Amino acid sequence: MDTINKFDSYVIHSYGRYPLVMDSGSERTCTDENNKEYIDFGSGIGTNSLGFCDEDWAEAVCRQARTLQHSSNYYYTAVQGEFAETLCKSTGYEKVFFCNSGAEANECAIKSARKYSFDKYGKGRHTIITLVNSFHGRTMATLSATGQDSFHNYFFPFLEGFVHAEANNIDDLKSKIDDTVCAVMLEYVQGEGGVIALDKEFVDAVYELCGQRDILVIADEVQTGVGRTGKLLAGEHYGRKADITTLAKGIAGGIPMGACLFGEKVKEVLTPGTHGSTFGGNPIACAGGNAVFAKVTGEGFLDEVSKKADYIKSRLAECSEVESVSGLGLMIGITLKNKNAADVVKTALDKGLLLLTAKTKVRLLPPLNIGYDELERGMNILIDILED
Ligand SMILES: *Cc1c(COP(=O)(O)O)cnc(C)c1O
Repeated sequence: MDTINKFDSYVIHSYGRYPLVMDSGSERTCTDENNKEYIDFGSGIGTNSLGFCDEDWAEAVCRQARTLQHSSNYYYTAVQGEFAETLCKSTGYEKVFFCNSGAEANECAIKSARKYSFDKYGKGRHTIITLVNSFHGRTMATLSATGQDSFHNYFFPFLEGFVHAEANNIDDLKSKIDDTVCAVMLEYVQGEGGVIALDKEFVDAVYELCGQRDILVIADEVQTGVGRTGKLLAGEHYGRKADITTLAKGIAGGIPMGACLFGEKVKEVLTPGTHGSTFGGNPIACAGGNAVFAKVTGEGFLDEVSKKADYIKSRLAECSEVESVSGLGLMIGITLKNKNAADVVKTALDKGLLLLTAKTKVRLLPPLNIGYDELERGMNILIDILED
């Protein structure tokens, strides 16, 4: 039985998949089972930050797999300690909790915000304001947090204590603040919602409002973090550091990992027995994380991310089918004039280029270390399709 038939028979049909059976990858190109090659502008949805099977990353991961693949969190491992130190020192946070995905990192942030408030003010101050059009994950709590009605179906009852305010509308957010609010949770650039960056004035006003009332700010940097926007954290573009920041997607270069970073105010909130994860901080994932951070925090790396983004934008600026371009760094949304984004992605697949969509936009999340030759080849394919 071929692979697609096996999926049809045995894998739950919860995804719309493209008819591509990925076999192997190298640098920023992958190969399907028929040996056709594809340039990757999607990074496995922003996870393969260093492209496919980067040599140093693969060496670190394989070495760890041969040395110690898992320990449980009853014990210490050097590799988790090392990654925790790297994460905290490079981001300016105090402490980290490791988990395995973006949704789990956000769950941790939600629990921590509620416990912070419970410890200090007692019961009833549990509401978390999130933004309309946000995406925070697929678990019950993170679905409840997600500010899109289309996600609030079937699985009733959703979790209490989430209120959605309009992005970039500080009056709406202000009107939703009451004595029950313990945190505001936001994506600096709404990813799944359509690659939309928040306005600086709005972010400033959110921080100001929250600061006055001891309301925590949670930054969901699951998609924007780890260099994606040309800064290690997207908050740096806004000159802001949230009380809690969540990371996942690109953090370990394509190995499942999530992290919840805690600043000064919240670093003691989680105490023994209040939270946990069997696989959290798994040594192989941490080895992958260390390899990613060694490159991403290296001299000049993030400047290159920004320059590559400029190159992409300059190419798109020449294209008459492009209505507008949104996003930050290598997180790019393209609004088209006449063409349908999903059709463009399908045609690109035929022509050997992997793209993503976000709502009605074409979305690009190329590997952070993509080369200019690969970028040029990919952009040539994309622009040919758009101008056809
Ligand atoms: C992808 C994403 C998530 C969910 O991450 P998973 O690893 O799929 O659980 C949460 N928040 C944002 C902003 C994301 O982009």
